[in-house]
Order: sequence, then C-alpha cells, then structure tokens
Amino acid sequence: MSEQTAIKFSDLNLSKPILQAVEDSGYEVPSPIQAESIPPLLDGRDLLGQAQTGTGKTAAFALPLLSNLDLSKKTPQVLVLAPTRELAIQVAEAWQTYARHLKGFHVLPIYGGQNIGIQLRQMRRDVHVVVGTPGRIMDHLRRGTLKLGDLKTVVLDEADEMLRMGFIDDVETILKETPNERQVVLFSATMPAPIKRITSRYLTDPVEIKIKNKTSTVSTIKQLYWKGKTFHKLDVLTRILEADEFGAVIVFVRTKSMTVELSEKLEARGYATTPLNGDIKQDLREKTINRLKKGSLDIIVATDVVARGLDVKRITHVINYDMPHDTESYVHRIGRTGRAGREGTAILFIPPRGDRMLQSIERSTGQKIEPLKLPSSQDITDSRIARFKENIVNAANNNKLDFFETLITELTEESELSPTQIAAALSYLVQRDRPLVEKKGAIPDFAFSSKNEGRNEGRRDRDRQRNDRKRGERKERNFDDRNDRKNQDSRKRKPKKNTGNKDDVPMTSYRLEVGSEHGAEAKHIVGALINEAGLESQYIQNLKIDAMHSTVSLPDGMPKDIYKILHKTWVSGQQLKLRDLSRNEDRKFNNKKPKTNK
Ligand code: AMP
Repeated sequence: MSEQTAIKFSDLNLSKPILQAVEDSGYEVPSPIQAESIPPLLDGRDLLGQAQTGTGKTAAFALPLLSNLDLSKKTPQVLVLAPTRELAIQVAEAWQTYARHLKGFHVLPIYGGQNIGIQLRQMRRDVHVVVGTPGRIMDHLRRGTLKLGDLKTVVLDEADEMLRMGFIDDVETILKETPNERQVVLFSATMPAPIKRITSRYLTDPVEIKIKNKTSTVSTIKQLYWKGKTFHKLDVLTRILEADEFGAVIVFVRTKSMTVELSEKLEARGYATTPLNGDIKQDLREKTINRLKKGSLDIIVATDVVARGLDVKRITHVINYDMPHDTESYVHRIGRTGRAGREGTAILFIPPRGDRMLQSIERSTGQKIEPLKLPSSQDITDSRIARFKENIVNAANNNKLDFFETLITELTEESELSPTQIAAALSYLVQRDRPLVEKKGAIPDFAFSSKNEGRNEGRRDRDRQRNDRKRGERKERNFDDRNDRKNQDSRKRKPKKNTGNKDDVPMTSYRLEVGSEHGAEAKHIVGALINEAGLESQYIQNLKIDAMHSTVSLPDGMPKDIYKILHKTWVSGQQLKLRDLSRNEDRKFNNKKPKTNK
C-alpha cells in the first residue's frame, strides 16, 4: 500500500493540543507526506512538496505550523495562498479543526465574491492565519487592510493550479511583501518551469519531498468510479449493495471513527457488517476476518492499516468510500478482491475535485477506470423482485413444508380465499417493512446529478473554477443575471406543482430564512444550493427573495441528510433554516403576513 508509515503522530513532536486534535479526528497514522513534512516544518525549514489533493497535505503543513504558532501575537503569522475559493474555505476549515484545542485561535479565509466589508470587519479581530486566493489578498494589500510584516510562514498550496489560473504574478508580488526571513512552503502536484523558478527564487535550501505514485500491476479487476458530494455517498453505497450480487465487501474509509459510523449505518440498513480499525485488538480482528471468510459477516468497513495483507477469497467488491492517499494505497486496496483468479469489482468514490487523483491512478496503473452507472430505482426494484422470487423457490425446494401446505389448504376452505390471494397476503406481511418497489424519489435521482456521468464534468468543474478566478466578477454577473431573470419570471408565474424542468421532476416549495435585508442575492442562494445540496441549477426554481426570507422550489423527496445540511447552511450571515412549506407546522408559519420586497 502507500506504505502507511510505521511512525505515529506522537513521534512527531507536535504540540499537545494539536496532537489531541489529530486524535479527535480519528487519524490512525500520519500519511507519507505528513510523516516527511512535519519534522522539517517544525524546525522552520523551507519545504518543496510534490503532492496532490488527497495525500493529506493540508494537515502536513497545518499541524506543524499550528504547533509553532504564538497565540499572543495579534497580527497574521501564516499566510496560505490557494487557487480557488473552494480550496481556501476547505483549508481554513481544516485549520479550524486542527486548532480546536487552541483557545483564541483565529483563521480568516479571504476570497473573491465574499462581501469585502465583512472581511474588513473580521480582519479587525486578531487573526493568526490568513487563507486566501491571490486576487483578493492583492486587493487587501492595495487597500492597506492586510499587513504581512509579521508573517513567519507563507504556504503556496497547489502552486501549479495557481500558475494555470494566471495567478503566478500575484503570487510573486505577495511573496515580495513578506519579510525576508520567512519560511516558505510550496506544494504542487507538478513542477513546471515557472514553479521551479519561484522555488529557486523564494525558497532557501528547501527540504524536497516527493510522494511518488509507483506503478504497480493490477489484476483483472473491474475498476469503476463514482464522482459526487460526500453526503450522497451512503445512498450511493447502499444502491450499489442492493443492485449488485456480492459475496463479501470491504469498504475503505480514512478514519477509525468513520469505520464505526459507517458500519453502524449499514447495519441499520440490514447488512451484516462490522468495523475494523487499529483500536480493535488483534485477536478480535482475526475473529472478524474469520467470520468474513465463513460468510457470517458480509461487509467490513476498514482503514488501510488493518486491511494490509488481507486475503479473503469471498471478497467480490472493494469500495473506496474515502479516497486513498496515493496510487499505491489504491492498488493495495483493490488487490483485496479478485483473489485466486476470481472476478472482482473495485469502486472508487471521488469528490467533485478529485479528478487529478483519478487521472494519476489511471496513469500509473495504465488502466482505465470507467464511470459507474448508478442503478436506477427500477434496477433496484428488479433486483429485489428477483431475489424475492429466488428465495421463495429455494424455500419451496429445500424444505419440508407439509405442515404449511396443510395449513394453507385449510385456510382456502375456511376463508374462500384463493391460494394466490393467500400467497399475496403472506408476501405483503413478509415485505411490509421492506417494500419491493423502490419508490421513485426515495433516493432521488436528482441528487446523483449528471456530475457522475463522466469526466467532462470534472473538466467543466475545473474550467468553471478557472474562469471564475480569471473573470470572477463577469462570470458571477452572468450567473446572477440568469437567476434574476428566473426570479422575475417566477414572480409573474403562479407557483405550480411541476415547474417544467427537463425531467419533469415534481417540486416542493421551501422557505429560507435569508432575505435581501441580509444582503442575500440570487447568486448567493443558488450557489449555496448547488454547492451544499449538489443540485443542478435547472432544479432550483421559483426563487423569490423577500426582505427577511426567501422561497424556492426544489425537487420532491429531498434526503434527510441534505435537508439537515441545508438547514444549517449559511448565506449572507444567516442560516437557511430550510422549511418545507407543504408541512403543517410550516403552513402555520406561512400564514404570517409575508414582508414584501421593496
Ligand atoms: P488533503 O490531501 O489535505 O486534501 O486531505 C485529504 C483528506 O485526508 C482530508 O479529508 C483529511 O481529513 C484526510 N486526512 C488527512 N490526514 C489523514 C490521516 N493521517 N489519516 C486519515 N485521513 C487523513
């Protein structure tokens, strides 16, 4: 595998609160890039890391830099430059997570599209770490609202992406504004010439770390990928399990806590499953593997560490629920199936930004990973019915049923029901809690948007981000215009059940607790719905923004987890507190005289 190092986090001299946060995060061991980067970064060395997203590089720099932070200082000590606002937010969130035991710690994300007034206000607080996109950081430097004079460290994250997006001059200008003796950390998946130039100009005697993606042969395992948002993964996994014939399954996740959490969720959905992680004692682990071999257990949810060398012939599926840290780890994981010449299927779940990892795996294994066609509701129904029939035939053929046959004959005579009616009633009783027909919308197909259909979308995603950066304002205006037009249209139209999206999806109206008085515009709300619910814009209809709230139509059958996420999503300083207007308590709510838009 990615030879997960034998080193422990506790060997790395991280400060106590940081070590505690790592422990809370459930990481078992440092990823290779972490094991190599943390010691030199703690020593204040410059560092040049060739690694991509998914290798754990954020923690590789955040953990040591946090350990070295002086919380009593009131000006920024670390500046992280990231190519996109998404990455800036993600990185800022990671800092926050790893700093959860550092009282008074503040990280400030700064990116285009966010209200500059809010940013200025936030900057007045003591900020220890600034994470931002080069364009917006430049804005603040020009305005004199960001001072980099006390900076101890600059991190350039995904430097090659910043180059591709045309930010490299900004990056150099920013570097020139920082003190001469600062530490510089540069991460880049590739090392094109301009990045090498930056390296030789601004890094002093850097430690060089390269996380290699070693080529290894993969046997005849069918390799598939599914791309989408984290909160759809569980539904996708259960769909796969329902529709595919499987022997034993190993599901790979990254943390100990996730092995337990996911295993519990699968168990609640009726699967014989158990977690396997480094906290579980060796003898219990062995018992678990034996149960998997014998078939009294079908699914294990494991971390890389414990699945090393696992050899169970029954394993038909490997699900990479969380992305592996590197290619080697991927190869090792999928090698758990297809043992002893049998067939196996490996499915890789990748996040919307995970294309690079996918391409790098394909490149180094020399094999194509095809997009997974997600089973439809009809596929699920078909496979349930087939299984149901098979079970009945097996039960009839393999059991002595004289007693029941007599009973049914008696019942036909007593009740005047036909044997078919009786069989139907029995079937109903057996399947009452587990309907054979998958309700359309029970797992709404809209949630698994065409984002999964191929990698063009990934390219489009990347292009979108790139364009966003380059022509940020213009792009936003276009988006805005489109939605404004939609709003105006919707004000004229009466709300109707079906709002004419291309798939004729039935819609539900929702109320959102954010309005124009809070500074919300269509682009903010639509953006949040797209980003947080993974919705396509065509399914966001009838957005109407009033002074203190808004209403919007979204497809019926929103999964509970998305509902919960949207409920808590922040837009313009307000949580959406999404409410279904067709439900009783909300009708009551809706009876209040609505404030009108000015
Ligand atoms: P990154 O490469 O920084 O984007 O990290 C990718 C993912 O790996 C993030 O979700 C992290 O929470 C997770 N991660 C980072 N370090 C570890 C670790 N040592 N063990 C398990 N997961 C990790």
